[in-house]
Amino acid sequence: MSDCLFCRIVAGEIPSTKVYEDDTVFAFRDIAPQAPTHILVIPKVHIPGCDGVTAENSALVAHIFEVIPAIARAEGLTGGYRVVSNCGPDAGQTVPHLHFHILGGKPLTLEMA
Ligand code: 5GP
Ligand code: ZN
Repeated sequence: MSDCLFCRIVAGEIPSTKVYEDDTVFAFRDIAPQAPTHILVIPKVHIPGCDGVTAENSALVAHIFEVIPAIARAEGLTGGYRVVSNCGPDAGQTVPHLHFHILGGKPLTLEMA
């Protein structure tokens, strides 16, 4: 989707600080970090959000959940980390492309996104 911010980041049309990439997954640092480590992990293909996960694409989501701990290890998040995916307006989803926040680097409060 050419008008999707995260699709444009995957395409390199908008710069980002990449931390991981493979054939199907891209990860980059959040522009407004809510914790010392704040990384967004996204599928390269456009999926609008958790509601867009289906039997046809759920293997990709499973792969993302293999990538997430590998990124956390590479980032040295030995004390643990949080994985968040906001779905829809009530959850505060602002970018309609499926993404998983990795938050860590300090003890997190429950209020933190
Ligand atoms: P959401 O609120 O949809 O769960 O998360 C969207 C995230 O994308 C926010 O944490 C926001 O800071 C981040 N974000 C928005 N625009 C950009 C951008 O242009 N570059 C990067 N790296 N992150 C962005
Ligand atoms: Zn997209």
